[in-house]
Amino acid sequence: MFDEFDRKVYAAGRHVFDAGDIGDCAYLIVEGQIEVVIHENGQESRISLMGAGEMFGEIALIDQKPRTATVRALERTVLVPIQRSLVDDLLAKSDPILRHLLLVILERFRNQVTTIPSQHLFSPAQSDQHAVLKKEVTRKLSLAHAITRALTHEEFRLYYQPICNLEHGHIAGIEALIRWEHPVKGLISPMDFLPLAEQTKQIREIGLWTLDRACRDWTSLKSITKVDHPFVSVNLSALQLTSSTLVEDVKAVIHKYNMPPKELKLELTETVMVESPEEALKILNKLISLGITLALDDYGTGHSGLDYLQRYPIGTMKIDRSFAAYVAKSPQSLEIVRSSIALAHSLGMNVVAEGIETEDVRALLIELECEFGQGWLFDKASPLNDLIARYGQTQ
Ligand code: C2E
Ligand code: CA
Ligand code: CA
Repeated sequence: MFDEFDRKVYAAGRHVFDAGDIGDCAYLIVEGQIEVVIHENGQESRISLMGAGEMFGEIALIDQKPRTATVRALERTVLVPIQRSLVDDLLAKSDPILRHLLLVILERFRNQVTTIPSQHLFSPAQSDQHAVLKKEVTRKLSLAHAITRALTHEEFRLYYQPICNLEHGHIAGIEALIRWEHPVKGLISPMDFLPLAEQTKQIREIGLWTLDRACRDWTSLKSITKVDHPFVSVNLSALQLTSSTLVEDVKAVIHKYNMPPKELKLELTETVMVESPEEALKILNKLISLGITLALDDYGTGHSGLDYLQRYPIGTMKIDRSFAAYVAKSPQSLEIVRSSIALAHSLGMNVVAEGIETEDVRALLIELECEFGQGWLFDKASPLNDLIARYGQTQ
């Protein structure tokens, strides 16, 4: 399994490392036997005996502190060093909460087995890094806790933003966008709590709440539109889309509010199709068979493979707002939008351009045969009652 070159041979009695040495690798025993000893009050005591196939010194793969014990070969022993660089990358990518917990546990362990004062164990740079990590973790853990409280105290709100027919401006559909009305901090944007909720999986419960509330509100919201088949759009997170209960949840909510299924549109991003393509395809087909429709959100920001655009049962393409912002200024953005619209139409999809703020952009998009638009030019996202007050019972 290992290259001859990687191996290190230790004669009987030779030390692999001593307590106090700075550790930078772990060791795998290929053959032979080692003992792990510690020194206390001038006395040496053996704490472990290990042989072929076992690993020691592994804490050095995670932190950068001195060894807490001495290891020596009891007979001719062959070892393979495992360098820290192998796990550095994995650790850097791991969740900061897990990384922090691991470091806290290691520190506790080290404080029990070493007599070296902990301030001497850390370099100033390491202390700073740890302090930053600790701060971030504390912020995340308290935010996660506050999200749980927000769910039970009903602190989430849905705001609604019209999606309009570009030419005559009539409201064709309405997108539900979540906000957190924090009792102290005020209104919090979804981008400030949804990414964490996704990591902690709290997004599942938030997503169910959103779906339920949007369908419940739809009965009154629907009255502000005057088109034949208006719809309410609900955003789905990647995690919800791989949940085995999603189809049943959607079915139950449609039934609960006696909602015509074609009036519910679910918005998803490309992430889920890239990460779990087959699983997502199955779920999306089941959703379609319930009669609801699907929209691909933020088109142009992800992986945009032709392959899944063809294979997935998506009825609407939503072009990300970053393109609308430049469509009038950059020929490149204009070309991207033109070809995206053409592609969507050739696949039988209709198109919503997001983030329309000016009449110029609206006019350009009409020229490109884009059907729908969403953005501040038409309206911002507002609470249900404000929207009803603004548009009355009919537009
Ligand atoms: P999104 O789905 O792309 O939603 C559109 C975002 O663009 C909204 O931001 C909306 O307020 C903003 N917007 C609309 N028109 C304009 C415009 O003309 N100019 C500019 N600059 N912005 C405009 P918001 O409400 O902050 O939502 C941000 C993102 O959070 C959403 O992006 C969506 O990905 C996510 N999100 C919101 N609500 C939910 C939810 O209930 N569930 C899930 N999973 N995600 C949600
Ligand atoms: Ca969306
Ligand atoms: Ca979007």
